[in-house]
Parts: sequence; structure tokens; C-alpha cells
Amino acid sequence: MTPATSEASSGSQAPGSLLRRGRSTTLRAVLFDMDGTLVQTEEYWGEAMFELADRLGGRMSDEARAQTVGTSMRTSMRVLYDDLDVVRSEEQLLADADWVELRAAELMAGGIRWRPGAAELLRAVAGADLGSALVTTTPRRTADIVLRLIRADLGMDPFSVTICGDEVPARKPDPAPYRQAMAALGVGPDECVVIEDSEVGIASGLAAGAAVLGVPMLQVVEPAAGLTLREDLSGVGLAELDEILAAAAGVRAVRSA
Ligand SMILES: [Mg+2]
Repeated sequence: MTPATSEASSGSQAPGSLLRRGRSTTLRAVLFDMDGTLVQTEEYWGEAMFELADRLGGRMSDEARAQTVGTSMRTSMRVLYDDLDVVRSEEQLLADADWVELRAAELMAGGIRWRPGAAELLRAVAGADLGSALVTTTPRRTADIVLRLIRADLGMDPFSVTICGDEVPARKPDPAPYRQAMAALGVGPDECVVIEDSEVGIASGLAAGAAVLGVPMLQVVEPAAGLTLREDLSGVGLAELDEILAAAAGVRAVRSA
């Protein structure tokens, strides 16, 4: 495995080598989930959810917490209420969701931690002639806090497109967010690798027709066609993403490789 750092330094040469392979599918874009995939912000969402449970007079189980990973605030609130066996009105749900979002944003503003290999892979993609999108269920106002920290850390903007949870007609696991990002990038699903940590995000990427690299941390994710599972992004460079795309493209791609 080539270290991610050297991949990054030779990133500008990678697209040519990808194109020269003569396959019908060529990697043209990488679409990244944010929380739990690039940065370890899932723990902040978890902390905020545990604090809300405390305010509601209960304690959220670890199983319920795991179920909420990658989901919308509305789904997360329902999982929490079921777990605590409390009934909340629609108004209370909206207020609770708001509270969790603001609390998580407060925690994120204190700093972010990269998942292993994520910053190096973003640099490699940015250094190559590839489209790059951030596709997150987190609402824009909170995602922007993390985006500012990501840009400051990298010293550049690694994304040509950013799509947030309040900017799509339906949220993950619906394919809509990834389809919207592909349309904005002007690429087809067979030209993309989606990188995700959650079950709902992986389902969304696969439903959109992309090859998916899953790097689960808080959930156990079952194998699926088109899905490659890794512990994290350490050492993952453009060549490996190209291989993942080829594997998902199936027998025809394997024959022509
Ligand atoms: Mg995620």
C-alpha cells in the first residue's frame, strides 16, 4: 500500500494513469460524507443526544445512539423518544432537535479531529483532476462550522460542491443527496466513489448507483454488492478508489483491466 502522503504529492499525475487504463468506467469524482467519515464529529452529535436525554430525565442506550448515526434530526429524535419511552409534541420535537443541533455546533466549534487518512485523501483528490463533493445530512448552518475548520486545516477548499441536509428533497438513505451532488458535478454514478461511515449513508450512495467505500466506526455494516469496507481511510489513495470503482463496475471492467 502506498502511503497516503506520497499519493498526495504525486496526485497531479494520477488522473492520466487512470485514463490510460482504457476502461469504460473512469474515476471522475469522489463524494464524501462529513460526520464520522472525514471528521470525528459523530461523537459531538452523540454527546449532545446524551445531554438531551438527561434533560428529558432519562439515559439513552448505546444501541439507540448507534441507530441514530447518520440519520436526520427527526429520525434521531424519534429513536431517542422510543428509547426513553417519552411522548413529545411536534413543537417539542422541533425545539429538541434545535437544541441538539446548537449544542453539537458548540462542541464542533471547539475543534475537530480528522479520521485517519481523511485529510491526506482530500488533498490527493484536490491535487488531481477530479470532482469533489461534500454530501452531508447535517444542516448548512452547522456543516459550515465544520467546513470552515476543514478549509483552515487544509489551507484550501477541497470541495467543488457542498450539499447539506436542508438543501435536498429527501435525506439519506434516499439517493437524492448523492444524485444532486452528481448532477452538480456533471458526472454519472458509474464515474463516482462515495465514501461513507453510516448504514443510511452507504444505502444512499448505493441507491444512487455509485461504488461505495464504507468506513464504519459506530455501526456494524453488512457487506453488499458495490460496497467495499475498510476500517478507515489510512493509506487509501486514488489508485485504490479506482480499484473500488472497477470492482463495482463488475466483470466487464475486470476483463478490460
Ligand atoms: Mg456520517
